[in-house]
Amino acid sequence: MLDRLRSALSDAIKSLASRALRKTITEEDVDEVLEELKLRLLESEVAFEVAEKLAERVKQRLVGLTVERGWDAEKAIASALREALLEVLGRPGPDLVEEAKRRCGGERPLVVVFLGVNGVGKTTTIAKLAYLMKRSGVTPVLAAADTFRAGAQEQIEAHASRLGVPLVKGRYGSDPASVAFNAVEYARARNYCVVLVDTAGRMHVDYDLMGEMRKIVRVVKPDFKVLVVDALTGNDAVEQARRFNEEVGVDGFIITKVDSDVKGGVAVSIAEATGKPILYLGMGQRYEDLQRFDPEKLVDSILPER
Ligand code: GDP
Repeated sequence: MLDRLRSALSDAIKSLASRALRKTITEEDVDEVLEELKLRLLESEVAFEVAEKLAERVKQRLVGLTVERGWDAEKAIASALREALLEVLGRPGPDLVEEAKRRCGGERPLVVVFLGVNGVGKTTTIAKLAYLMKRSGVTPVLAAADTFRAGAQEQIEAHASRLGVPLVKGRYGSDPASVAFNAVEYARARNYCVVLVDTAGRMHVDYDLMGEMRKIVRVVKPDFKVLVVDALTGNDAVEQARRFNEEVGVDGFIITKVDSDVKGGVAVSIAEATGKPILYLGMGQRYEDLQRFDPEKLVDSILPER
């Protein structure tokens, strides 16, 4: 899935290396190559301003560099790219399974609210995390706080029963914030360590999704607000990330459908646009298909071997 990014970076490295040989790299050398790199990043769905920032960071590291051998040049340039990418992607975010474990036996369970528009894979992602947590010895309580969409309650209920984890739901049309609140109370009373709250995601002009999310957040005071976005939607995912972060506040992201034919730029763009970490990647439809996101691993996978 990351082939495009990988070949863009690899071409930029070769091209810069050939200019750098036995002379000091000038701003002009870098500019020409980085213009090409920026175009290629855009084709890989890295957002425009992100491509600009990345190029600027690479430039700062490269102008003035002198190397004696071609091999060294490629290494030095790859390392500048690596550092710039890691700066953009940031540190790894919290491990929600470990965070949940830490709450066991405490006053209040860990509360994680999942946000995201319909169809991105929010409910599936919650089920995957529940599976991961249960396998690590912490059984989560699920909260079905989408009380509007037909089938939403049944969908999460089917996951809960397949996974053998408790579910707190509400009647259709009831207040989502009260469902989330009841789930936290349920968990607290029975000593569960973590609550995963599923929320609504419909985007209609006459309906205030952000207001509803803010209310849930006010009522249950989650430890983490996690936005789920679909990698296949490209720049739309970046826009959603920005908007939810501004209107509700987001502590981290989960990017789904990374197993499909995506161009890889979305992860880089979201991290840069919001400054918040990516926590997990959805890599398929099975419960096992959720991976913790590791910036170093991603960067290693898109840069030629060192
Ligand atoms: P929600 O409306 O956001 O709750 O979305 P759902 O959880 O119902 O998922 C929508 C569709 O996306 C379903 O068909 C899921 O199986 C699929 N899906 C979710 N995550 C992934 C993923 O990581 N990879 C793939 N290929 N499909 C996914």
